[in-house]
Order: sequence, then C-alpha cells, then structure tokens
Amino acid sequence: MTAIDYPIHIEIKPRIHLIRGENRSRFPSSNSILVDDEILTLIDAGAPLSHIETTLRDLGHVLKDIDRIILTHFHFDHKGNANRIWDVAKCEVLAHPSGESGIRSYAGFIENYGLQGHRYWTDWEQFFRSHIPHILEDYEVTGHFHDGQSISCGEVELIPIHAPGHSKDHTCFGLNGFDTIFLVDIDLTKFGPWYGTAVSDIDDFEKSIQRIIDLEPQTGISSHLLDPVSDSLIPRLRNYLATFDARDQRIIEEVQNGVDSIERLAQSNIIYPRFPHNLYVMFEELMIRMHVDRLVKRGVLVWNGDRIEVLDK
Ligand SMILES: [Zn+2]
Repeated sequence: MTAIDYPIHIEIKPRIHLIRGENRSRFPSSNSILVDDEILTLIDAGAPLSHIETTLRDLGHVLKDIDRIILTHFHFDHKGNANRIWDVAKCEVLAHPSGESGIRSYAGFIENYGLQGHRYWTDWEQFFRSHIPHILEDYEVTGHFHDGQSISCGEVELIPIHAPGHSKDHTCFGLNGFDTIFLVDIDLTKFGPWYGTAVSDIDDFEKSIQRIIDLEPQTGISSHLLDPVSDSLIPRLRNYLATFDARDQRIIEEVQNGVDSIERLAQSNIIYPRFPHNLYVMFEELMIRMHVDRLVKRGVLVWNGDRIEVLDK
C-alpha cells in the first residue's frame, strides 16, 4: 500500500464525516460516511478498515461502537468490510430489499453481477479469490430501508433516495434534507456512468440522475471522488447524464463505419478508454448491448441476422 497524501477523513457537516478510500477513493476502493451521533452509523464499508478505524479513533470510538451499517448497494467496493465490522460490532445492517441477495452471499453476488456462465467466469473467480477474498464470505443483513423513509441517527436524519440503474438496489442518501446528498455511484467521475451488471438498467439510470437534479442539491458526495462537489453541481450532474446520449452517438457512428457486432463495438473504446484488465471486456459488452437494445427499440439501429445496421429511413 502506498502512503496517502490526503487526510483520511473530513467533517462535511456537523456529526457527518467523510472517510476517504485508498488511491484517492478510485474503484475498487470507495468512500464511506460516518455519522457520529446517538446511533453511530456507517454508510458503506468500502473504505479500508484502517481508514475506518483511524476515523473512529480520532472521534473517540472503536469499531465495536458502531451501531448500524447502511449499505447503498451490493457492489463489492461498497459492501466491502461490512462483514469484518459486523463480526466485531454485531451491529444492525440495513440494505434496500432488492440488494439483500447480492449482499448476503457470494452466490447471490455472482448472480446479480451476471457473471455465472460467462466465458470469462473462471478468470473472474480467480480474480476475486486472489484480490478480494473477503467477498466470498457471507454478509449479515438485519433489516431494510425504503425510499423516502427517513432513518434517524439522533440529530442527523438520513433520507434514502432509491436511484436504480447503476444497480437495482442503488440508493443515494439525503443528509438532513436534500441540500447535501450522498450520490454514491452517480459518481461524477470522468469515466461517467457504469451499468455493467445483470441488474443494471440504462434507462433507470438516466431517470435516477434526473430525479437527483430535480431535488436541486447544493452539495453532492461521490463514492469515488476525494472531495464533496459544491461547485456547479447541477451542471456537472447534467454533463454526467449527457454521457448516455454521447455513447449512443458513438455507437451509431461506429455502426455506420461497419462495426457491426457487440463484440467488435466492445473493442472500439466507447465506454472504457482502455481496459485495466481483459476481464473488463465483459462489462463493456454488457453496457454496449444495453445501448444497442435501446437504439433498436427507438428504430435507429436494426439487427440484420447477426449484424447490426443503421436503419434507413
Ligand atoms: Zn457500484
């Protein structure tokens, strides 16, 4: 692990602390949020355990004091250390009902990712075992949260905003109202939106971003950026939303140039500028397929046998 050159935690509002991840919180690390209130609450457990423990210590707590973990969705960079913490704290663990199976077990996790039976399946399995073995273990879920049903920590109220698309269970949180929202994986990164699992939905993702914009937040906290975003948040959300159309356009252009299959489109750097590992080709293919499906539905593209073509009008 390399030394980090930024504070591990910062207070973003009274009683609300951002715990930053490794490597500037980039995937596969992520930020967590600690609410230091009557009910000591951790939102997401993707930050390194050492960062969580340091933050707790600086605030006069230990791991065992955690009363509640809230998981924004089932992805491994968010459920992360929740099982390790539960082992010590035996705390409440809340999830969206649609995320429970993906959180609880490795089998459920694989199913929700849509990895089983894929041509890269054995490579993925090896990757998980060697890089993130803790996700092979079972995780506890003790209860559910629901859209709009506020969760009280004492002084701080957390308001779940169900924002599916990235995954079915993906949920943002209003931190004492909607002025400050934990945007989770509406993450405002340069990469843009990611929807590469069996339980992702491109159209839902667009609607969820629009829903957040309509709440007119002043500050957004991304799971994968070091700092909360207060400067031009709404334009940045709009830009992020526009990525979907830009990717549609790229695909139409590629098809016009004769790139006529999902597999070939996936080699055209439409979503990933480069693949960090060959395994990511699978995510690219899944996401490209979602674009092609919707462009076919819209009458822009058409399948001609096993070839994709632009529909002549
Ligand atoms: Zn995610």
